[in-house]
Amino acid sequence: MKAYRGKDDKIRIFRPDRNMERMNVSAMRSELPIFDGEELTKCICRLIQIDQEWVPHSMSSSLYIRPTMIGIDPTLGVSSSDNALLFVILCPVGPYFPGGFKPVSLLADPRFTRAWPGGCGDRKMGSNYAPTIRVQAEALGLGLQQVLWLFGDDHQLTEVGTMNIFVLTLNEKGEKVLVTPPLDGLILPGITRQSIIELAQEWGEFAVEERKITMPEVQQLLHEKRLLELFGAGTACVVCPVSSILYQGQTLKIPTMAHKLPVHQRILKTLTDIQYGEVDHPWALRIDQA
Ligand SMILES: *Cc1c(COP(=O)(O)O)cnc(C)c1O
Repeated sequence: MKAYRGKDDKIRIFRPDRNMERMNVSAMRSELPIFDGEELTKCICRLIQIDQEWVPHSMSSSLYIRPTMIGIDPTLGVSSSDNALLFVILCPVGPYFPGGFKPVSLLADPRFTRAWPGGCGDRKMGSNYAPTIRVQAEALGLGLQQVLWLFGDDHQLTEVGTMNIFVLTLNEKGEKVLVTPPLDGLILPGITRQSIIELAQEWGEFAVEERKITMPEVQQLLHEKRLLELFGAGTACVVCPVSSILYQGQTLKIPTMAHKLPVHQRILKTLTDIQYGEVDHPWALRIDQA
């Protein structure tokens, strides 16, 4: 999660209830104890109240909040822990795009897999992240910025780095459809992802489809000029537009930035307005600063 300081100097956090639920589901997957999410939210609010000067006085920065749980039994065995430590790390973070809102380039290499059926790619567990670091370094070595994680023989798109993925398309009738992979166990159930789906449904201007999307379909849509925008979504950046994908030796140019009123920009503005209290919304929880 993050804590955001608005122009009104008030500090807010975004959908803590959803974050607590998800953390408990992750704890269960490693046989760690579950906890009362409302109580942890109260503790986090009190911690931020004490450390409130660490929440940047800026609408492009925020305070990153990382609730963490580890087993602490003094043993080396692979077994459930009788003792666990639940703690919260805070760290101020600057703008995700220090040089301005710039689209990123992706490496899509089907040799690498982030998650698989029956695994725990849909849980925020530390074991999901260490194996991605070398692949991310490989992308950087090729002059690219992020990894587009594919899965299966049909090269399904699953996530971008540690973000969920959205593709704005035109269907055969020429109508806009926002497509995102389904919660089938291969992707992390992002709270930003869920919020974008709920916003789009509320707007009612284009359909949202939670379905499988593959690289051959992306190539086909690009060929038919029916792929409008492709972007990642997560707490760190809210939305992260994509400009190109290196796939099987070919650089696919994605026209995400080529539109006048891009949907990803509207999503960014709507969500940041809620987070920084520019509008009142039930997703934002005000922290008592007195
Ligand atoms: C945290 C995370 C996301 C995004 O989730 P948010 O709740 O929107 O921040 C997406 N994918 C992975 C792998 C993640 O770890």
